[in-house]
Amino acid sequence: MKKCLQNMDVKNKKVILRVDYNVPIKNGKILDDTKIKETLDTINYLLNENCQIIIMSHLGKIKTEQDKQKYTLEPVANYLKNLIQTEVYFTKDILSEDLKKRVNELKPKEVLMLENTRFADLQGKLESSCDIQLSMFWASLGDIFVNDAFGTSHRQHASNYGIAKHIPSCIGFLMQKEIYCLDSLVKNPKHPFVVSMSGAKIDDKIELLENLIQKCDYLLCGGGIANTCLKALNFNVGQSLASYNPIIIQRIQKIMLENKEKIMLPLDAIVGNTYDESYVKYKLIDKIDDNDVILDVGIKTLEKYKTAIQNAQTIFINGTLGYYEDIRFANGTKEFFQMVSNSQAATIVGGGDSASAARNLGYENKLTYISSGGGATLAYLGSSSLKALDAILEEERIETLDL
Ligand code: ADP
Ligand code: MG
Repeated sequence: MKKCLQNMDVKNKKVILRVDYNVPIKNGKILDDTKIKETLDTINYLLNENCQIIIMSHLGKIKTEQDKQKYTLEPVANYLKNLIQTEVYFTKDILSEDLKKRVNELKPKEVLMLENTRFADLQGKLESSCDIQLSMFWASLGDIFVNDAFGTSHRQHASNYGIAKHIPSCIGFLMQKEIYCLDSLVKNPKHPFVVSMSGAKIDDKIELLENLIQKCDYLLCGGGIANTCLKALNFNVGQSLASYNPIIIQRIQKIMLENKEKIMLPLDAIVGNTYDESYVKYKLIDKIDDNDVILDVGIKTLEKYKTAIQNAQTIFINGTLGYYEDIRFANGTKEFFQMVSNSQAATIVGGGDSASAARNLGYENKLTYISSGGGATLAYLGSSSLKALDAILEEERIETLDL
């Protein structure tokens, strides 16, 4: 790929680096630093090349002035200081002539992190609507744009898509790794190829499901996806999470009809109950009552899924098999990761919750690859394209601006 960081002349240049530092923060403390650490290869490369680095990222969604306190990137800038061998400055400024001056004062090997790009959304959604003036202003801060924010690359925002339209741009090492792994493992997988689709966002995942079912040998279902399939087969799923959108149900029915041999559905479940918090029961899948809520898969389901996993060469996992945030319903997800990590297959996790479940349950180093992007991974696998990536790889630059 021509537009990879290692193929660009960045030496002694002012580089705008877009990262995805949308990390969980509580009371100013970073709870999971994975996304920060994953960008260090790119940052250290730029430092070696004597660059002045301007780091930009979004954090959370900014709808009101109050959100600004909760979603400031200042703790992230302080955290980054301890991970790299140089000064990291932070500025609350994202949009003024003073910012330009501040950037021009930067010395080689210094880093300036700007405040959350989405603060610009308080002025008429300038960031999220990819406002052209804002894109041009941000682009004017540097000589070269490096996009390493895989997690947000399915979005067409000013700080990722917009900047790329106006200055020479390339993709960083994290972005390259993500694309390489997803391409080689999921687009041209070794067979048998097993896909596990579970979790909550059924309506958002239908396209991916339709795409992956063509390529895989087995589709193992859990969570809301399984419940929707069971519902479409006229099983009683009680009050369980499932899609109620008739179009989605029709599409699920079509997938099931055309791929009977490939699809595996739960045989049993751990259920909760709508009127009693403490109620937890094991049930066979055809014994679910009206007030039951299916919250995890049972042991028979796991045994059935094991038959597919044991022989697999490639396994792709999206979504958790149950409501894993509650320990009483985490067993299915945990046992599933255990079976997967025992297999000989290349194992890829793609999805925000499935990735954090894999880490929190202790499987980070036992799987081949955990993608850093939830929505972006799904968008890429579903449509083979990402807006911010396309802006760099395909589009011509409009012009170089002098603002
Ligand atoms: P990902 O982020 O990996 O793409 P999702 O966001 O679609 O996955 O799904 C993960 C979420 O699904 C978790 O919050 C989990 O608690 C929830 N979930 C999984 N199974 C169930 C279930 N049976 N009932 C309710 N929630 C579930
Ligand atoms: Mg999720």
